[in-house]
Amino acid sequence: MKKTGITTTVPIEVLLAAGYQPVDLNNIFISHPEPEKLLAVAERDGFPLNCCAWIKGIYGVCLQGGLDSVLCVTSGDCSNTIMLMEVLKLKGIKTMAFAYPEQPDSRRMSSALKRLAGDLGTTLEAAEGLRDELQPARNAVLELDRLTWQEGLVSDWENHISLVSASDFNQDNRRYLAGTEALIEECRRRQPYRDDMLRLAYIGVPPVFGRQLYGFLESNKARVVFNEVQRQFAMPRPGRNLPEQYTNYTYPYSIHGRLRDIRAEIKRRRIDAVVHYVQAFCHRAIGDIILRRGLNLPVLTLEGNSDFGLSQQNRTRLEAFLDIVTLKRQGRRTLVRSPV
Ligand code: SF4
Repeated sequence: MKKTGITTTVPIEVLLAAGYQPVDLNNIFISHPEPEKLLAVAERDGFPLNCCAWIKGIYGVCLQGGLDSVLCVTSGDCSNTIMLMEVLKLKGIKTMAFAYPEQPDSRRMSSALKRLAGDLGTTLEAAEGLRDELQPARNAVLELDRLTWQEGLVSDWENHISLVSASDFNQDNRRYLAGTEALIEECRRRQPYRDDMLRLAYIGVPPVFGRQLYGFLESNKARVVFNEVQRQFAMPRPGRNLPEQYTNYTYPYSIHGRLRDIRAEIKRRRIDAVVHYVQAFCHRAIGDIILRRGLNLPVLTLEGNSDFGLSQQNRTRLEAFLDIVTLKRQGRRTLVRSPV
């Protein structure tokens, strides 16, 4: 199959039906042994220092070669992608475009999917067949997610990496399924995490310092039991068909739709506090104003740039935040116990 880079989560069923293997460029960038080198490639070619690291990293991955083309999402993700697409064309890289509808509307989504399928030489019906084939992998990772928050058997890093990889199933959905099922089996044999650990929600785009963040939280008696955007990559509300599935996917649309999903999961997963990750120079950081107002819980806004390790400043902020949340939770318990 021809490899097509994707700049964010897209309807991969259409790509697969047309004979393209989607490759999530974000995951290649962030798992690169030396991601700084990919940023340097972009900056040498003129990307400004104050451009988001994900965009520069994606560009660096594209220039490494090995891709037939790149599918750029021009609406519903990042305005920087439009200019990225132009620069990739300048470099002789074949690009294609996909635009999410402005509103989550399944009729408009159906038209967008048909247009993409037509551009790639396939049909929506063929893509629906691929949806069925991918469903077991999605079911497996959603079960892993349930084991994380409901049974306390999965680490927050395992939860993050499994969900974030559902954007392209690490380029092999069958191997991804086998790996996730093996992890589920292993987790079921574990002792659950202590239930006095703080329960956190992580909201926002995936962090540049993933493993260190999750490890640091766990070593400070706190677990992320809700990875918001990463969970969306696994299509938790698949609906009856592809148009419904990508209409229910919250990330490309208004922040208020995301907020409804976040609130419902915070309640279901008994969350104590929220870490909102924002990427430096990202327009989505402004959404912090709305998210903070809409969430009735302590929120820490954590910013990352091109620092692939967790800085001392961020460690200190996290520690202070967790201390406050712990005190608040103890206070709540005292209040609950006091009449007895
Ligand atoms: S983090 Fe923000 S600016 Fe960077 S690629 Fe994602 S949406 Fe665009």
